[in-house]
Amino acid sequence: MASVQIHDVRKSFGGFEVLHGVSVPIEDGQFVVLVGPSGCGKSTLLRMLAGLEKITSGTISIGDRVVNDVQPKERDIAMVFQNYALYPHMTVAQNMGFSLKLRGADKSEIDQKVNRAADILDLRRLLERFPRQLSGGQRQRVAMGRAIVRDPQVFLFDEPLSNLDAKLRVAMRAEIKELHQRLKTTTVYVTHDQIEAMTMADKIVVMQDGIVEQMGAPLELYDRPENKFVAGFIGSPAMNFLEGTLKVNGGQPWVETANGAKLPITAAPAAANDKSVTYGIRPEHLEFADDGIEAEVVVVEPMGSETQVVARIGTQDIIAIFRDRRPVAPGDKIHLRPRANSAHLFDKETGKRVN
Ligand code: ATP
Repeated sequence: MASVQIHDVRKSFGGFEVLHGVSVPIEDGQFVVLVGPSGCGKSTLLRMLAGLEKITSGTISIGDRVVNDVQPKERDIAMVFQNYALYPHMTVAQNMGFSLKLRGADKSEIDQKVNRAADILDLRRLLERFPRQLSGGQRQRVAMGRAIVRDPQVFLFDEPLSNLDAKLRVAMRAEIKELHQRLKTTTVYVTHDQIEAMTMADKIVVMQDGIVEQMGAPLELYDRPENKFVAGFIGSPAMNFLEGTLKVNGGQPWVETANGAKLPITAAPAAANDKSVTYGIRPEHLEFADDGIEAEVVVVEPMGSETQVVARIGTQDIIAIFRDRRPVAPGDKIHLRPRANSAHLFDKETGKRVN
């Protein structure tokens, strides 16, 4: 196992810079998830860790070795791809043992390592099958098995679950997490799915347009996003945003929307009076209260365990989630109150957090 240091890494393709000085420290044994919308540069960064793409400037170190110019096969990493990349004419056992065979390992060592990985991943019964005889989830497990037998210092995963159906994705997510708890191998995992990031990561790195917007533990990002982008990206359904003006004059401050709704906040700097802000509130932080803000129900989505309600405050729509089955219907007038200490304020211009 090893730590990984990504320091001030830039990448240009034909003069066009797609990564603008990215630094990510990764501790030995940590599970780090790179997440962000399509095109933000997360796969490029992962491919540079793997050595599949050259770094334009900056350094990447694995352990205490700078690997900028080290060949992929010399880096002691194993990568699991989205499309699994299994060899169709080889059995599961042969697929899993292939890298060891290339390295010149003898048959007994290969058998032992393949069997150990097969035990960990519950693949014993499938060792003699060919990839075409496996389900998507089983193929994904074989791809992981192939990474495990190499016993690398670092695992790299590139959207490994995106070809699986929703149910299998949830199951494999737990399996990968359990695998990491067991092996404690340093892992870098790329996804565009914030739920995967939240549930699996020790540390999430949120990227946008070739920069790191924020990194930290999942709940740190959830509780205290540093800007509006991270606030809107982490959490599902996404945080509600309401535009308004900050009012700070002695008593309890509030944000006033264009239609006059007053959104209470706990504190704000006095100098910020009349500042244009974006008020953020998570759907699960709204509750019914007679003295709350008036809203009109637009859509009701009963999910069984909870009810999602789309409601309109003035001209702006928000989503609220309720644990109970309170009967509300489109057109109803309701009153919603944000829970204490749950509002997030962002500068309207820069998107940066102000509270
Ligand atoms: P996705 O989730 O869609 O895979 P991503 O965040 O992984 O997106 P990258 O694949 O890293 O994004 O791409 C980052 C940027 O670099 C994009 O603008 C992409 O068009 C560009 N890019 C990636 N590879 C190349 C290449 N070989 N040549 C030119 N541009 C590239």
